Order: sequence, then C-alpha cells, then structure tokens
Amino acid sequence: MSSDPQAFIPYGRQTISEADISAVKSVLRSPFLTSGPAVPAFEQAVAAKVGAHHGVAVNSATSALHIACLALGLGPGDRLWTSPITFVASANCGRYCGAEVDFVDIDPATGLMSVQVLEQKLQQAQQEGTLPKVVVPVHLTGSSCDMAAIGSLAERYGFEVLEDASHAIGGLYQGAPVGNCRHSAITVFSFHPVKIITTGEGGLATTNDPVLSQRMRELRSHGIVRDAERFEQPAAGSWVYEQQQLGFNYRITDIQAALGLSQLQRLDEIVAERNRQLQQYMELLAELPVQLLEVPKDVLSSVHLAVIRLQHATGKQHRQVFEGLRAAGVGVQLHYSAVHLQPYYRKLGFAEGQFPEAEAYASSAISLPLFPGLSGLDQQRVAAELAKQIRAFAPEFAV
Ligand SMILES: *Cc1c(COP(=O)(O)O)cnc(C)c1O
Repeated sequence: MSSDPQAFIPYGRQTISEADISAVKSVLRSPFLTSGPAVPAFEQAVAAKVGAHHGVAVNSATSALHIACLALGLGPGDRLWTSPITFVASANCGRYCGAEVDFVDIDPATGLMSVQVLEQKLQQAQQEGTLPKVVVPVHLTGSSCDMAAIGSLAERYGFEVLEDASHAIGGLYQGAPVGNCRHSAITVFSFHPVKIITTGEGGLATTNDPVLSQRMRELRSHGIVRDAERFEQPAAGSWVYEQQQLGFNYRITDIQAALGLSQLQRLDEIVAERNRQLQQYMELLAELPVQLLEVPKDVLSSVHLAVIRLQHATGKQHRQVFEGLRAAGVGVQLHYSAVHLQPYYRKLGFAEGQFPEAEAYASSAISLPLFPGLSGLDQQRVAAELAKQIRAFAPEFAV
C-alpha cells in the first residue's frame, strides 16, 4: 500500500486480483446470476480444500450459523455455549433458534475458549441437568481451538460441536485443515471482505454428515424440497416442489461464488503472507510491554488478526492508546468487547464479573493493521506509533 506517512492504515482490507475481476465478469455475461453452476463449484472447491465431504454456501456466516444450529436440532429449551470473546453472531445463532445462550471463559494467553473451564462447567451442568445441546468454539484470529479435547468432551457429555471458523480458513490443526470436521458436526466460514478470502458477503458450512448437509441446503432456500422421491404428498407431479419446513432465503449468488472460487486459488499464499506480517510485528514489538496472542502448539493460524494485549495498563490507558493510535492514522480495532456485556445480553441477565478473563481481555486487547498489501514501512509506522502511545504512560519504554 501507500507509505504516505499521513495516510490512514485500516486494520484489514480485501485483495482483489485481475483474475477475480474476470471471474465475476464472466458470470455477469452468463445466463445464471444465482442458483447456477458457480455455487456448487465453489462449495465443492472449499470442501475439497479443507477435506470435508460437503459444503453449503450461503449469504453470510451468520446465516450459516443459524441454519447449522437448526440442522443440529437446536430449539427452545435447549442451550448453546460459546466464547464471550467473539463476534456477536456466534451467540446470536442460538437466540434465533429460541435457545438459551451461555458462555465459557477464555484462556488469557490465546484468547480462545478455555477447555479447562469448559470441562468444569460441563461437570457442574451435568449435576444440575443443564448441559448444552450445542457448543460453538471460535477460532479467534485464525487459531484453531483444541478440537481433539473439545471433541472428546462432546462424546462424554453428549453435545454437538459447531466450529465458528469465520477467521480460520486456510489454518491447520494437528497438520490438517480447519473445516475437515474431524472433531465437530459442522464448521462455518465467513467471506466478509475483512476475512481471509471474500465473496463480498458470504459464508459456508462444511460437514461430513449427508443428513446435516441436506437439511442446511433446504433451510437455505425456504425449506423447499425438489426431489420428488422425498415428497410427503407424492400425488404431486415431479414438476412441482414441496415446502416441508420453514426455511429462509439465505442463498449466495453466482457472482459471489465466482469471486470466492477465484480468491480460493490464492488462499495458501494469503495465509503465508499474513503469517509473515505477524512474525514481523513480533520482532518490531519485542521490546514493548505488549503480548501478541499466542498461537497454540500444533496450530497454523490463518492470522486473520494481529491482536496484542497491553501489559500493566489500566482500562483508561488502554482507551488512550487506542484513541491515540486512531488519531495518528492507525486503524486499530477491538476484537472483541465481551459479548455477555452487550446491552442485549445484559437484558437477558448477564453482568460484569461473570467471565473475568474475557473482561480483562476486552480492556487490554488491540488489533493492529494486518492484510496482504500492508507494507513493511506501514508496519514500522504502526510499531512506532504504538511505542509513542505507550511511552505516554510508561516513560521507561523510551525506544
Ligand atoms: C465475521 C464473523 C461472523 C459473521 O460473519 P458474516 O459473514 O459477516 O455474517 C461470525 N463469527 C465470527 C467469529 C466472525 O468474525
């Protein structure tokens, strides 16, 4: 990008190639803008890339989470647990289905749902008869949660695992791609422009279960069945369709799918570049009182975000650093404030103090700019501005 010292550096940005533009153009010239061949081509390519049997593409990851929960049978009277440090959609999908939502506190080093806390909470819930039906681990910043451990808890306590991998396409866990659903029922990806690869808006669910795949496909399009062999009223001719349940219009267009398919060709390259930039920040920030979130052992992160935690800073100082960086043209963000303290969740009864690690995280975390196209000079400028902000309250870090 530009190395204009005054230019605003956003925290994330899509990369669109000439090949992406050609792919979209060719759909625009084709007979199908939606429900055409680009959608299944994209679904199959993503499923093959991540090693899953089925892929169901929809208009957002939020929609994918919703129909994934419905396909898993989540409904009123059931419980969904997720991390309090995530985008609100990871929790809202439970509410869409009328389920109760609860949270599992994080591991402060990685920012991911703590498996230890999860296990304790499950033990207690078993005694109280309040076990969850669905648990949604979130692969924050692109680092996979410990899926083998969560998968074995799922077997022991009888819940379904829905991976929110909105940040994590292109990542690996124990050497295998995130999204292969080896330890989960369904995995969801997002293709919003700030994510690893984009379709403008879009999402996709992978699964190895043909029944879940078919349910999600039907829910994506009004609950309509076109396969005459599955009709409940077989007297109807095969030229008609049946609506068998209440579904939605969550379809993705061929225009979007073609963009996604073209972007997917560069996935490994993009993830490598993101890892290179993270490494660069690690070196640039080594002397400052900040800690980049740890990538767990046995994980290749797709590095959706470079999140640092300020050490020894008060909440007020955190805010000052944040605002100072913004004023200096560095587009930092907070991923995320704790979901349970959002007004909507407070109205459901959540309050401060319930998830202390998440709350401490939210008052110390800062996402630094990171995206393909960010230059080395830009990264140096980010580090220098950060150092300047920290020196304002900790003069011993005079670099
Ligand atoms: C972006 C995001 C979503 C929602 O994705 P959309 O495609 O914008 O609906 C869900 N969960 C997490 C963790 C995200 O970052």
